[in-house]
Amino acid sequence: MAGTSESEKRFRFVVVGGGIAGVTCAEQLALQFPSEDIALLTAAPLVKTVTNFRQVSKTLQDFSVEEQPASILEEKYPNLKVIHSAVKGLHAKQHVLQTENRQVFHYEKLCLCSGARPKLLIPDNPNVLGIRDTDSAQEFQKHLSKAKRMVVVGNGGIALELVYEVEGCEVIWAIKDKAIGNTFFDAGAAQFLIPSLEADKPEKALPCKRTRYTTASKDDHSQSSDVSSQGSTAEGSGELGSALGPDWHEGISLRGTEEVSHRVHVEYECEIKTIYSQQDFMKSPLHTQETDLGLWPVYAHLTNGKTFGCDFIVSATGVVPNTEPFLHGNNFELADDRGLKVNEHMLTSVPDVYAAGDVCTAGWEPSALWQQMRLWTQARQMGWYAARCIVADVLEEPIELDFCFELFSHITKFFNYKVVLLGKFNAQGLGSNHELLVRCTKGHEYVKVVLSGGRMMGAILIGETDLEETFENLILNQMDLSSYGEELLNPNIDIEDYFD
Ligand code: FAD
Repeated sequence: MAGTSESEKRFRFVVVGGGIAGVTCAEQLALQFPSEDIALLTAAPLVKTVTNFRQVSKTLQDFSVEEQPASILEEKYPNLKVIHSAVKGLHAKQHVLQTENRQVFHYEKLCLCSGARPKLLIPDNPNVLGIRDTDSAQEFQKHLSKAKRMVVVGNGGIALELVYEVEGCEVIWAIKDKAIGNTFFDAGAAQFLIPSLEADKPEKALPCKRTRYTTASKDDHSQSSDVSSQGSTAEGSGELGSALGPDWHEGISLRGTEEVSHRVHVEYECEIKTIYSQQDFMKSPLHTQETDLGLWPVYAHLTNGKTFGCDFIVSATGVVPNTEPFLHGNNFELADDRGLKVNEHMLTSVPDVYAAGDVCTAGWEPSALWQQMRLWTQARQMGWYAARCIVADVLEEPIELDFCFELFSHITKFFNYKVVLLGKFNAQGLGSNHELLVRCTKGHEYVKVVLSGGRMMGAILIGETDLEETFENLILNQMDLSSYGEELLNPNIDIEDYFD
């Protein structure tokens, strides 16, 4: 690095974002170019690092994520400089970035890994929360510790975990689908999981030993709003911490004020129409129609006509890529979900600007067995692969799309069950051209296989099925399984031996 003035610096490689994608990318670049200085610019004071990485099978990966001070990363990679400042502008033609603290960074190659933030039903309302980072999880905990009832909106992974983990607080769960967990499951799997919501939660086996670092919380301002008139979502602002991962709730108490363990009531096929503050609700016609709702800080009026008073609302309706600081004056191609579109080399439509993780959208023709989902695993894979692409570009070497993009695979936990998702696990994009085989033992396991033309295209494995490796192989090798029929899921057959 050669500094041109105190506020102007030059790095050959600059990465923006201290989440999993950015840190993985910066680490790889630091390893590949030990004699070059690499800059990691990040808005949050802590960075995310991958620990306990385990390659479970050919494509399944399991790992933990730790939030650490930047100094730990710098000690590990002497040529990596972490700069704590948010980027506020990009002049891609000049290859220059500007940060909030008025520093200017020149780069040769840039990788944007600025993540995404929750879509909020309404912004800046103290009774409507999103969960994304450590700060927002703490804010949520603070509200919960005083709450009797909350309304959760959304049906993805965060909502699923939340309704299961929360105790001592009644949960009204509003979902727009016919079954819970629609992002990950079909209705059958949802039915398998529902009893867990009705039962008391089992005691945790082990206390969380992970070190946690926290940052200060923010002030709130009050208001109430008509959600429907805002086109269903508005985005929160100022959420610049890294996204949490699967264990976001570990180490924090998710207890309300009531004695109950679980009390979850699901409202299917609806969304929130209007959110009222207590004051506005008292003045609204609804108040005269619905006299027995009680006195609550906030009221959610749903599109199915029902109204619920509650202490607060959690908005878990997906995320919006953090692209704003980079768009002005540049010609980025954006995908429909507003992510930066990247090609098979993780390159955006702007020369020398790469992107990885939640901020980007895969713009290449995907393999028949892969789809993008904004998950930890993919953030790591994309960050790693983006660095490899930058290296190949600089060294003028060819590079092929990494094998990890061949088959979608994800391992996680929902409702205390191990969950493995493979390929087109929900028959995504297969239309009616598929058949399903299901095996289910209540409270024990749920196995679903998606077949198309006799070939296995995807699978959902809930519980300790031990089938992930065999099924991954069957999906990858696309063997014709027509002759096996339902025997494929016969519990009396050791399927591993069968296909040896
Ligand atoms: P992030 O982790 O969001 O990091 C973005 C980084 O960019 C941050 O460091 C931020 O400070 C920085 N940044 C943003 N703007 C700027 C700027 N202008 N200038 C400089 N820096 C900037 N995934 C799973 O696989 N399994 C799960 O069970 C799971 N559970 C989740 C639970 C919760 C509550 C949440 C919120 C997410 C969960 N996810 C889960 C999703 C997963 O956490 C994300 O997909 C992943 O962390 C994305 O990584 P990233 O590096 O792309 O972005």
